[in-house]
Amino acid sequence: MADIIWQRTFSRVVEEHGIPDDWSLFQDAELNKEEGWLCYDQTTFGSFRCSNCRRFWHSAEISIMFLLQQNRWNRSGRVRMRIFRQQCSQCEYPIMETPNIQIKNVERVVRNLANKICRTYYGAPTGTEDLKSIANVKADGPHDKENCEACQGGICEEKGFGSAGVIVGAVAVAAALGIGALFAFSQEKKQKK
Ligand SMILES: [Zn+2]
Ligand SMILES: [Zn+2]
Repeated sequence: MADIIWQRTFSRVVEEHGIPDDWSLFQDAELNKEEGWLCYDQTTFGSFRCSNCRRFWHSAEISIMFLLQQNRWNRSGRVRMRIFRQQCSQCEYPIMETPNIQIKNVERVVRNLANKICRTYYGAPTGTEDLKSIANVKADGPHDKENCEACQGGICEEKGFGSAGVIVGAVAVAAALGIGALFAFSQEKKQKK
């Protein structure tokens, strides 16, 4: 998934949420937890294709790690993100593949991220539940831990999978319609001017 799609979505959603500071987002394939950075994990739905045998599979447990840091002095913030890869279970020497994540799920993941920023740094009410990702189809069987980069790094386990992070089909649409409240910082914005 191209960096630019995540960056564009992030800039727009940050704007929509009225977050007063300049926040930027970058992908880093080697990212790991780091002192001084707030770690925020999400799970989403997407698909993979093996570049060896062309096998195609879906996963509802694609891990995404975000590290957040605010700089109060120059009124900015940074987000670094890592999308964990998965590898083919059929090939003898598989390589880690990057998932294809549909734009509607990019949008939902980024909205959750913006809400997290609002709650953590700008006093938005806590207790907002993350939007669940939408799956077009049921994922292929249980999570294939052996072939998941995040599982290999202990990331999936920490999150305690079992609580569904993804909803399928019609239920998903109903849930999506129910949520959409934004936390606006119009007051703060006015003061800034
Ligand atoms: Zn394969
Ligand atoms: Zn995993």
